[in-house]
Amino acid sequence: MAQNTNGSSAARGRRVQRLKKIIILSLLLLILIPTVSCVILSVRVGMLTNSLKELQREMLLVNDAQMRQQEEIAALKSLLSEVGESSGFAPTAQSSPGQGAVLVLPEPEEDTTDPYAQMRKVYLTFDDGPSTYTDDILDILDRYEVKATFFVVGKEDDNAKEAVRRIAEEGHTLGMHSYSHKYREIYASEEAFREDFEKIQEYIYEVAGVESMFYRFPGGSSNTVSDTPMEELAAFLETEGVVFFDWNISSGDAASGMLSVERLVKNATKDLEKWDSCVILMHDSADKRTTVEALPIIIENILAMEDTVILPITDQTVPVQHIDIDAK
Ligand code: ZN
Repeated sequence: MAQNTNGSSAARGRRVQRLKKIIILSLLLLILIPTVSCVILSVRVGMLTNSLKELQREMLLVNDAQMRQQEEIAALKSLLSEVGESSGFAPTAQSSPGQGAVLVLPEPEEDTTDPYAQMRKVYLTFDDGPSTYTDDILDILDRYEVKATFFVVGKEDDNAKEAVRRIAEEGHTLGMHSYSHKYREIYASEEAFREDFEKIQEYIYEVAGVESMFYRFPGGSSNTVSDTPMEELAAFLETEGVVFFDWNISSGDAASGMLSVERLVKNATKDLEKWDSCVILMHDSADKRTTVEALPIIIENILAMEDTVILPITDQTVPVQHIDIDAK
């Protein structure tokens, strides 16, 4: 019986010991878990606080940049309005919500200055037309997309009138070269010259609807056959508001007979580099076939030159004149 009692008290002692251990362990866990959790959480809070500070700093930087941008836009706007006041246009600004002002720059004003100011200008001019070759010449000019100037005379047949119309319709310049082209008649007196001048100006107006303001004297202003001083005739044209044009390059096709294509090309192109403004004399005439044949080569040579443009004569063209009427 006593052995039994001893045995059961030992077992109870062991159970109590085990229970104590369990309790201590539980207590330890109860303390450790919140402590560790607290440590982990406080570390994370610290990290989040740092991130928050970083974000705040970046926000401030972005704000600063936005402020500077706004200031720049405001400065630009006031500058533009100053420019606008002096040049006649006003700047416009459009705002889109939340994005600040979006500046819309005004369209630049149309450039009224010479677009070819820095280029060599070459003017192809044809005297004595219209002729049986006018259409061929116009076809060639069309193929190369260049415009020329035709100093025409008065020819009354339908083909001639149709050619004069075509010259104007295709954007070339119609100039006058006298109505009769008879030196003896037109240069007999100022009165005779005036009569002929009025006739050719009227002819061009009636045929093509163009009031021509350009004249080429038959034989040029430096001709030596006129019975009337050429300065007087030039002065008369000036009173009519008409500008006369001579040439500074001659193809040489005025010579009797026909020059070879090679010779015409050489004559028309060898001196191009001497002038910023080149007026080339050629003829639109039934007996000048080689001029038509040389024309594509002449045009190609000119177009191959750097900074060079082929233009029709306009009221912006600086005239080439052999005589100086102001020196009279
Ligand atoms: Zn002529």
